[in-house]
Amino acid sequence: MTTPNVIGALYEKIRRLNQRKTNLTAEYNAKCAEIDCELDTLRSALQTANDAVKDVLCPYCKGTGDESYTDAAGSRDTRKCSHCSGTGIKKG
Ligand SMILES: [Zn+2]
Repeated sequence: MTTPNVIGALYEKIRRLNQRKTNLTAEYNAKCAEIDCELDTLRSALQTANDAVKDVLCPYCKGTGDESYTDAAGSRDTRKCSHCSGTGIKKG
């Protein structure tokens, strides 16, 4: 009789697919946790760097050295920051 074998095989296939799905979900969650951990580290490092330079950066261009303006034709463009002369450093 082959029917029980077919049904058994189907149950087994379903079990394996569910197991595969469980494994993939666990792998996904573990990788997401790793990425979240790395993001936290990078955000913390960025915050530390920002805190270290915030008092020396030009407050107008935020240290980029560029400012945006509207030209004679009415279009937005960027030019060297007029407050820090494009250095990005706050004037003493
Ligand atoms: Zn500036």
